[in-house]
Amino acid sequence: MPVFKNASPRSAAPDAAGRGGRLRQEGPPLSARPASLGDSRRTDDSFISLRGLSKSFTGRRGTLLALAPVDLDVRDGEFVSIVGPSGCGKSTLMMLLSGLMPATAGTIRVGGKPVKGPNADIGIVFQQDVLLEWRTAIENIVLQAEIRGLNKAAAVEEAQRLLAMVGLAAFAGAYPHELSGGMRQRVSICRALLHRPSLLVMDEPFGALDALTRDQLQVDLLRLCAERRMTVIFVTHSIIEAVFLSDRVVVMSPRPGRIETILPIDLPRPRRLAMRDTPAFMHHNHAVTDLFKSLGVLREEDE
Ligand code: ADP
Repeated sequence: MPVFKNASPRSAAPDAAGRGGRLRQEGPPLSARPASLGDSRRTDDSFISLRGLSKSFTGRRGTLLALAPVDLDVRDGEFVSIVGPSGCGKSTLMMLLSGLMPATAGTIRVGGKPVKGPNADIGIVFQQDVLLEWRTAIENIVLQAEIRGLNKAAAVEEAQRLLAMVGLAAFAGAYPHELSGGMRQRVSICRALLHRPSLLVMDEPFGALDALTRDQLQVDLLRLCAERRMTVIFVTHSIIEAVFLSDRVVVMSPRPGRIETILPIDLPRPRRLAMRDTPAFMHHNHAVTDLFKSLGVLREEDE
């Protein structure tokens, strides 16, 4: 595995899997994206660009501002985590980014194109794996290709490759009830990646897993990211998880959610679990923790 040295490691990684390969033969062409988008300050060529993005919900009890206007740029190949207290609008932000919910105001561009409806060039993983219990692991993964009208034989081949990458080659024929929580979530990650999306959106994907399984899935996810070129937006409540995985951590305020700060995580890749005990890691961890304390999100007995 290559050792990455810059702040956006996967943007320099080769597209070993060959984006746009055989899986796309029978489907409509999905949006292309530039090979390299460079400096994140050059907002005109960011892979993801959010401008003044906000969302309000109107119900019987009036209007609730869930997400205050947000500006964010994400480079091609970047891994960006979003951390914030419950109810600050993280899931809302993911729904907007995925085109599954219209914004109240502002714009979203992904791969240079405005997002105005469901984005086809995206993989989504939620906290619940939402696997179909009557389909085997591989059938659940291939469902992605069936929905998109992609080549079935190539999809099966790709699904087998993905299952092997996450250590589940022997479980292709297992039904969801025969799999542990961690295995089920691995299958749902494989399903999200089957069509080789440019963007992977993950909303608390490891939130329901035990601590050890969660550690293992973090490691597995980083390996997948190193092997496949994609941009990842990852929502989590865990500061340690965010720091461990990310190139940058976006810290959100309590509702109405706004971006409080964005912390670059300059730890080398590949990341190792043991890095969590290093002073550099702890420095980042403390920076986010202190910020949440200053926002009143975290409080200690004597304060
Ligand atoms: P988070 O993911 O950070 O926990 P959410 O994005 O789920 O936060 O929710 C942000 C706020 O918006 C919450 O107060 C929530 O109750 C509200 N909200 C989310 N979705 C809806 C909806 N469909 N209708 C009304 N209110 C909603």
